Amino acid sequence: MTKISKTNEVLNTLLMPYLARDLVDRLQSSQPPNKQLGQHFLINEGVLDSIIANAQLQIEDHILEIGPGPGVLTQRLMQSGATVSAIEIDAVICDHLRREFPTLNLTHRDALIDDWSEEVNAIVANIPYQISSPLIEKMTHHYHVKRAVIMVQEEFAHRLNQTTYSDRCSLGMVARLDWKIELAQKVPPHFFSPQPKVQSRIVLLSRTPRPEHWKLIRELIQHTYGQRRKKIRNTLRKSGGKFLNLGPWKHEWNNLVQSIENKWMDARPEELEFDDWCDFATRIIHHYHRCIDI
Ligand code: SAH
Repeated sequence: MTKISKTNEVLNTLLMPYLARDLVDRLQSSQPPNKQLGQHFLINEGVLDSIIANAQLQIEDHILEIGPGPGVLTQRLMQSGATVSAIEIDAVICDHLRREFPTLNLTHRDALIDDWSEEVNAIVANIPYQISSPLIEKMTHHYHVKRAVIMVQEEFAHRLNQTTYSDRCSLGMVARLDWKIELAQKVPPHFFSPQPKVQSRIVLLSRTPRPEHWKLIRELIQHTYGQRRKKIRNTLRKSGGKFLNLGPWKHEWNNLVQSIENKWMDARPEELEFDDWCDFATRIIHHYHRCIDI
């Protein structure tokens, strides 16, 4: 796109600053919100401004918005001058968005299907809460996505951030392998229409370098948390090492489980800190090398 047409696009969007409440009312006059699709639309201008401030948008950014709904955040993203793409699952909402924002690069699709464009470097969205986990997983595997500002359910935010010991879970521990996670503003139900039953939270994710043995650590965490009340040794012994895809090394598995003597083997997964998982994987790899060298 040339600089002039980019400038025109920015000017166009500047000329149509709608109030969030008006956009939501216009959409809701076409169809009632579908709660199964997580349709709780933001109507508070301050929170929308806060999402944008946290996103620290640059003109070079290519932002993907997932579930733009009425377009309350979309218009602010477009005003920033960054390139904006949006994916929305609801056909009536897509018609509404095409009417209100003719220049928006909009795809009518389930955001969990298909790879996202490799040009996208950030996600900014008030997402449908029911797809929070798979969406974070998908973001993680799209390595070109370097940061995200998303609104999620308060409880989900704490699990992702592992705020307290009882929030510790596979989701948050695995996320730590790829993301620095920060909690921003808490958002009450009356800032949405219709109001959700839960509190919400703006969460910031920024990509961090992957630790060595990334894949093995992920698999260890996910597999052992699948049996979170059991001691790690028991879960690993029963697994026969299958989840690790060990190939010819399979027969060594029981040996390994027996021979690793450390405080983690007889612990339950939630007792391990992030660094413990990294050390644990390193020990498995050392043992593996010892075995194949013999
Ligand atoms: N971002 C808007 C709307 C949030 S509601 C706002 O802040 O007001 C969530 C939006 O996600 C709805 O528009 C819903 O239709 C859409 N949605 C739900 N599931 C989706 C999916 N799998 N892929 C893309 N969009 C989805």
